[in-house]
Amino acid sequence: MCKVYAVASQKGGVAKTTTAINMGVDLARKGYKVLLVDADAQGSLTAGLGYSQPDSIEKTLANIMEMEVNEEPYEWDYGILHHPEGVDILPSNIELSGLEVSLVGVWSREKILSRYIEKMRNHYDVIILDSMPSLGLVTINVFAAADRIIIPVQAAYLSLKGLEQLIKTIGRVKKSLNPGVGIEGIVITMLDIRTNYARDIVKLLNSAYGDAVRIHKTMIPFSVRAAEATAEGVSIFMHDPKGKVALAYEDFTKEVFLNE
Ligand code: ATP
Ligand code: MG
Repeated sequence: MCKVYAVASQKGGVAKTTTAINMGVDLARKGYKVLLVDADAQGSLTAGLGYSQPDSIEKTLANIMEMEVNEEPYEWDYGILHHPEGVDILPSNIELSGLEVSLVGVWSREKILSRYIEKMRNHYDVIILDSMPSLGLVTINVFAAADRIIIPVQAAYLSLKGLEQLIKTIGRVKKSLNPGVGIEGIVITMLDIRTNYARDIVKLLNSAYGDAVRIHKTMIPFSVRAAEATAEGVSIFMHDPKGKVALAYEDFTKEVFLNE
């Protein structure tokens, strides 16, 4: 049974892409068949895994969504790249923003991506969708296609209002488009252990959301190694396998996927 995760927040730079990449690579290293879907027109996941010129890639998610809209047939593995670290990737680039605009007015426009993902469930154990920092139509498509949504929050820059809006949007999608979707939890990222943010933030989040949303016990520490890995186009498991960020992502994946 394939599990479909989305990593989402309309707040930029909270480690959505980093979380998607490292969760995916960790699960691939453990033997699962993993597909990472880049659902951001910036192509950060694509670039973050070493395909440094996403805009020059010809076959992307935008093409697939367009073919879905037009009900054109395509090979099941259209556009999929096989990464040396063991994950498969469906890339994205700037064409996705053009596609997003053209979706307005399309019948059932929120469910285009989910039609693709439903087919891919037969081929993978885990699918992870990386989303863009917005709650626009492509991100709604992501929520409509996912089983579980992971929300990264950067402790030092918590926006309760932003979180409220995000949770409400997911609630609406659940009601009208995808009854099977749920929030996996909030994961605190880029944590500076020298401050007391973590404790304060967890307290604040708990009082704001109570039992409604779980806050993961694994927190991802800040480390310049993580940024270096992104710049090099590899996962943290390649760049700094024994470092604290690699260990944290390993724990996080266990907590989420293996329920440990
Ligand atoms: P966007 O909203 O633009 O899609 P994002 O939420 O996907 O951003 P990332 O691109 O994953 O965020 O991370 C933003 C930057 O922070 C990147 O340069 C990344 O390398 C860096 N970063 C991610 N995690 C950590 C960490 N634990 N420690 C230090 N830097 C990190
Ligand atoms: Mg990103």
